Amino acid sequence: MREESTVQDPVIRMIGTRNVITRTNLPVGDYAANPYVGCTHGCIYCYARFMKRFTDHHEPWGAFLDVKQWEPVRSPGRYEGKGIFLGSVTDPYLPEERRFRRTRALLEELKGSGIRLSIQTKSDLVLRDLDLIQSYPDARVGFSINTLDEDFRQDMDNAATIERRLKAMETLHDAGIRTTCFISPIFPGITDAESIMERVRNHCNLIWLENLNLRDGSCRAAVMEYIRGKHPDLIPLYEDIYLHGSRAYWEEEDRKMREYAAGRGLDYVRNDDTSRRPFEAPPLIVNYFFHEEVRKTGRKGSNA
Ligand code: SF4
Repeated sequence: MREESTVQDPVIRMIGTRNVITRTNLPVGDYAANPYVGCTHGCIYCYARFMKRFTDHHEPWGAFLDVKQWEPVRSPGRYEGKGIFLGSVTDPYLPEERRFRRTRALLEELKGSGIRLSIQTKSDLVLRDLDLIQSYPDARVGFSINTLDEDFRQDMDNAATIERRLKAMETLHDAGIRTTCFISPIFPGITDAESIMERVRNHCNLIWLENLNLRDGSCRAAVMEYIRGKHPDLIPLYEDIYLHGSRAYWEEEDRKMREYAAGRGLDYVRNDDTSRRPFEAPPLIVNYFFHEEVRKTGRKGSNA
């Protein structure tokens, strides 16, 4: 069974950069950091493919990786109380992180700064850094999970199996780290968000929901080819949504998830990441459908 990256010998380069930390307008932090450019998880729906334009690579997305070497972070204490999102564009825990340890290096640099750490990943390699993560105040780790069906997962990405992600989430939560289940991207007619929520609700503090968007042409072509090949019965639905712009499916999903939340006594909000709750509180469900419109940016965002 394919469990993790099967990218054979991705083209790897070292690149220098002045600052690994940049400002962000994402709703999850004041700053973002991405220790790598490119992503060997190679998800077919990846919204970050546009990053290839800013590299010298000719290989397909998923088959190259630039490893950032940065200047030491100046005065880490100035970030005290601010939020940083690690992996805002691509996954900080790629298989290559085992060798290059750039994400761990950044965590070591920022340790003790008082910055609020948020990590997003599809890998259980994050468990390696549990000791460091625990040293951050109120740290949280999110796992992207858009299916419980391992066959579909294997069609989508080269990352860790769903079971490994779920186990890692549980381990971190048991260790007192806040965890997020990022149900994204929700594939119409395929992703069963309620089953995922049911599976994770005792092991996470937040559940984020995000719809599949296919604004990017290459992403749209790859996804539609997949749907035509594996789920031809869904073609009318996908055309309705992605050709004709219908939002009826998402409105119905919103209604069903709201109903699910009410049935479980869970709070359900839209586009709001401001809630701070006790660790023991049941998870808050945040619907981020079309969040980029709410933020009024054209930014494609991350689904790492
Ligand atoms: S969707 Fe995320 S994890 Fe997948 S290839 Fe893109 S950046 Fe990597």
